[in-house]
Amino acid sequence: MQQDKIWLSSPHMGGNEQKYVNEAFDTNWVAPLGPNVNNFETDLEKYLNQNVFVGALSSGTAALHLGLILLGVQAGDEVICQSMTFSASANPIAYLGATPVFIDSELDTWNMCPIALEEAIKDRISKGKKPKAIIPVHLYGMPAKMDEIRAIANQYEIPILEDSAEALGSSYKGQKCGTFGDISVLSFNGNKIITTSGGGAMVTHSKELKDKAVFLSTQARDNAPHYQHSHIGYNYRMSNVCAGIGRGQMEVLDDHVHLRRKAHDFYMNFFQSIDSVKVLHEPSSDFYSNHWLTAIVLDSFEKREALRLAFESQNIETRPLWKPMHLQPVFANAPYYGKSVSEDLFNNGLCLPSGSNLSEEEFLRIEKVLSDYFTL
Ligand SMILES: *Cc1c(COP(=O)(O)O)cnc(C)c1O
Repeated sequence: MQQDKIWLSSPHMGGNEQKYVNEAFDTNWVAPLGPNVNNFETDLEKYLNQNVFVGALSSGTAALHLGLILLGVQAGDEVICQSMTFSASANPIAYLGATPVFIDSELDTWNMCPIALEEAIKDRISKGKKPKAIIPVHLYGMPAKMDEIRAIANQYEIPILEDSAEALGSSYKGQKCGTFGDISVLSFNGNKIITTSGGGAMVTHSKELKDKAVFLSTQARDNAPHYQHSHIGYNYRMSNVCAGIGRGQMEVLDDHVHLRRKAHDFYMNFFQSIDSVKVLHEPSSDFYSNHWLTAIVLDSFEKREALRLAFESQNIETRPLWKPMHLQPVFANAPYYGKSVSEDLFNNGLCLPSGSNLSEEEFLRIEKVLSDYFTL
């Protein structure tokens, strides 16, 4: 008989989520507004602790889309984006008829390489196309080198849209990820460190920007008794039912970070003596990762595939790293700057089960597959 599936990262409820959801039902705030939405936003603002303003939205993708709109991106513009990421970082560029310009990763954080970033900006400017925004990503929770990226962004006066979808709970030099961008984005999809079943948020440093995001996300209705519109609107606001789940999840966010970091320690320990495997880890004490997913790189594609299949045969989910966007058929024509760091990572890398809800017994099953594979 097959054993229960071990997931890469599955929803993990804390306990109070249902209480807040019931409140929504009891008070009939079953709508994309209400007390849970307001309170969830306040919880996030307090947690991020940088005098930020948070707008709760229907998804991280919606937040990225609105972020680009608020940064003034239009059809024909170019937007710089980390190549190694989930497609949702780049798709909103295409929604707007703009062109993504992809940037390779660097070896230590796997995130946007600052050197390739500057090379790209110079080259695009020399071609008469100054990029309108830069989208760095904190992959698997590992903070990108935001000091270096910010310095370049400021030098060329290009705003940053920070994709912090995977990095709620991470910090860089003591500052929480999700507060580094001119606009920043969080996701609460089912597989993320906390979930609202599906949802996201935009984080800004001004009330005015937040208000604009909320206005656009609720169909851009002008102030009039009838339906009056002077902007194109979107239906992107978060449901008050989902926000109830979010409020409960905020109570356990720190626990989840702690548990994901413990899962990461488990893998670090295991691979300590195995030279052919590299675990993505914090390059220095400047970096504090929520370790949303623990990821490893083996020394060949064949070995990576063999390990993946060994896990699969035991009903344990693992996943190759994000396939870089510049290698995706849908973005085949987009410009790309860098070398083959992200491509090599993709070929040889694997994400391992990292959920905050993994049991002792599940860790033993994982360890057994690893021990058998590496014949310890
Ligand atoms: C999950 C994710 C998104 C999209 O968030 P959704 O809430 O699923 O729309 C964007 N970028 C990255 C890097 C992600 O991991």
